[in-house]
Amino acid sequence: MRMAQVVLENVTKVYENKVVAVKNANLVVEDKEFVVLLGPSGCGKTTTLRMIAGLEEITDGKIYIDGKVVNDVEPKDRDIAMVFQNYALYPHMTVYENMAFGLKLRKYPKDEIDRRVREAAKILGIENLLDRKPRQLSGGQRQRVAVGRAIVRNPKVFLFDEPLSNLDAKLRVQMRSELKKLHHRLQATIIYVTHDQVEAMTMADKIVVMKDGEIQQIGTPHEIYNSPANVFVAGFIGSPPMNFVNARVVRGEGGLWIQASGFKVKVPKEFEDKLANYIDKEIIFGIRPEDIYDKLFALAPSPENTITGVVDVVEPLGSETILHVKVGDDLIVASVNPRTQAKEEQKIDLVLDMTRMHAFDKETEKAII
Ligand code: ATP
Repeated sequence: MRMAQVVLENVTKVYENKVVAVKNANLVVEDKEFVVLLGPSGCGKTTTLRMIAGLEEITDGKIYIDGKVVNDVEPKDRDIAMVFQNYALYPHMTVYENMAFGLKLRKYPKDEIDRRVREAAKILGIENLLDRKPRQLSGGQRQRVAVGRAIVRNPKVFLFDEPLSNLDAKLRVQMRSELKKLHHRLQATIIYVTHDQVEAMTMADKIVVMKDGEIQQIGTPHEIYNSPANVFVAGFIGSPPMNFVNARVVRGEGGLWIQASGFKVKVPKEFEDKLANYIDKEIIFGIRPEDIYDKLFALAPSPENTITGVVDVVEPLGSETILHVKVGDDLIVASVNPRTQAKEEQKIDLVLDMTRMHAFDKETEKAII
């Protein structure tokens, strides 16, 4: 059995121009895990991937593959295959030759190369394209060839750098599920870079959220969505993004309340302890659009969870309707039942599922709840 655990220990990358691309990264990618590095442009995802591949020197720290430090191991000796955003296919070679190339370099016997290329082509459904040149392929087909070139090598670890970003939206959705199936089939360790939160949420066993070269949070998609560690992660995951409202924690009838400029809602009992140090202080209150309901369709409306505002914009999407609602000084976005009667410029009552509330420290922006 081939094991492939990848560990980053205090890894830092400073480029010659003094740009600190990655700061003290610590990460364990378990054998057979599908880990997605997620973050906005320039946050250091690609640099991290390239350091694992050995294409970029590490300024500080250690990278282990299978328990061995690989800092000084050549890329070709790391038993890793990388799939690039632009596929990097050789234009003058056929699909077959492109897939066979890496094995030829490594002096594999011809029949072994043939067996591997045909098997990979079968897995990817590109057997009928083996004689074509890259320019005779669609974007999705090129993408499959690029993956095929990695598969034939049967590497310990696959690294993917935004492999779907050049595909149109429909093909991206299709390739997403294909890559996921492929992961199950190959039982491989995959480290995958993207700035697309949907790709991350749908494919990853574990998501690593990065910002400005620093890891913000590591967790399952469920953890990252439900328990974001800070304001950045909370706002980066979810669409439309979480609402953030400057508010104050106050004592009131029956316990603690969140007081904002235009509404007051009650904190569920189970969260009161966490807010004990914040009474009469300012916090950032967070609630996701999908946790806000049009009162007409809400299960348990009450004065403790209902807020009133004026509808600014109505965006019907078919399966849901997005409302932008002015409540005091804040603009609250809610994703509500598409049968809503909400009309622009009219009043609306919204019900907040307070069991799904978030709260963040105003100074550190770290999660309290
Ligand atoms: P993107 O999604 O845009 O590819 P990224 O998250 O992959 O972004 P990196 O490409 O890792 O980010 O870049 C991280 C930082 O390092 C950026 O500020 C970038 O400008 C800088 N950087 C990247 N490569 C180099 C280089 N070769 N020399 C100097 N600075 C670099």
